[in-house]
Amino acid sequence: MASLTDSRSAELYRRAQSRLPGGVNSPVRAMGAIGRDPLFIDRGEGAELIDVDGNRFVDYVCSWGPLIHGHAHPAVLDAVTAAAAKGTSFGAPTAGEVELAEEVCSRVESVEMLRMTSSGTEASMTAVRLARAATGREKIIKFAGAYHGHVDGLLAQAGSGLATQALPASPGVTKGAAGDTVVIAWNDPDALRAAVAEHAPAAIIAEPMPANMGLVPARAGFLELLREQADASGALLILDEVISGFRVARGGAQELTGVPADITVMGKVIGGGLPAAALGGSTELMRMLAPAGPVYQAGTLSGNPLAVAAGLATLRLLDEGSYVRLATTTDRLAEGLRTAAGGHPVQVQSAPGLLTVFFSEGPVESFAQAQACDLESHAAWCRELLGRGVYPPPSQFEAWFPSLAHGEEQIERTLLAAEAAFAALPVREPTA
Ligand SMILES: *Cc1c(COP(=O)(O)O)cnc(C)c1O
Repeated sequence: MASLTDSRSAELYRRAQSRLPGGVNSPVRAMGAIGRDPLFIDRGEGAELIDVDGNRFVDYVCSWGPLIHGHAHPAVLDAVTAAAAKGTSFGAPTAGEVELAEEVCSRVESVEMLRMTSSGTEASMTAVRLARAATGREKIIKFAGAYHGHVDGLLAQAGSGLATQALPASPGVTKGAAGDTVVIAWNDPDALRAAVAEHAPAAIIAEPMPANMGLVPARAGFLELLREQADASGALLILDEVISGFRVARGGAQELTGVPADITVMGKVIGGGLPAAALGGSTELMRMLAPAGPVYQAGTLSGNPLAVAAGLATLRLLDEGSYVRLATTTDRLAEGLRTAAGGHPVQVQSAPGLLTVFFSEGPVESFAQAQACDLESHAAWCRELLGRGVYPPPSQFEAWFPSLAHGEEQIERTLLAAEAAFAALPVREPTA
């Protein structure tokens, strides 16, 4: 592998492993999927990360999505600093929460009101509770490979054979919690129609731009079918825009696709790198939440003034021109990566501000196809990239997050590194 000094990271990782399970506070950070140890980060500057050994990388994780303006953007830092000087949390309402809610509602047509939380997990958990309360039903339909946070009932996987109830996807999740979830394949219209007919669900929950199995966009017409099936069956459509929201367009995937949600789940960009997330929908639906209505939901740090300040500053920097620029950067990167791959069988799938390099002979349209990728070559390529100053998401089942801080120079450097990293891979026999 290309050279990388990691003695201080190695020492921190050794200590971390005795005090933090797996040495990290969230699993994918451990880099186990690409067969190496994690790098400990000292700081970020725009599109770049600097680790504790002084290695500098063009960063395509960007905190897994929140940092659409890159690291340490001065306007975001100023907003957070000003908020912090006034106190960090009050447990009472502040003006910023109203302003952020107004900003979000001006962007997402289907959102007339919102409730803030500290994490996307809480927001999707509440979205499901609200959908059940509104419909008086219990079953939820979700898609294999979609991630909606580590809520028990959504950590479910498809059962085998004819079993239609999902099974726990993690020890500690009860059969009961998973059993209220039905898991079906993404982009499979027949499976969707059959599941809706059989289960009369409270909600269909989907990422409109799925990016947690790598980026696997909907086939033409599939999102429209979700909307149609929800309406026809009396279910609510929950669109989890934690990644796509305020990233793929000013109003998120709903603006891009024209398919509106009943409940939208937001996170990542909305907190600008601090802990904030939200769910939103029509006034009628949202007024079911306490204290306006009977559905209980709360949070000590919900709408935290620092997180709200970071989120507002982040959103206010995002005008129509930003989205044109981010889409152009992503296209340039995607096109360059395709060229850099040469004869290696990869599929670069992209949406504005998102892309995945799948080590696959053909397009990836489902979780099963993502799982069938050449994970070993992907891992080797990622290790080569790290050695050449590019920090990719260390898993085949994640998306790259180019930001508005990624300029021509960084893209150029990335593509040179990518080409060299491909060239360093052993040539594999094409599979039949
Ligand atoms: C990250 C993510 C979540 C969970 O958000 P957390 O803030 O990590 O709890 C939910 N849904 C999607 C689509 C995500 O990408």
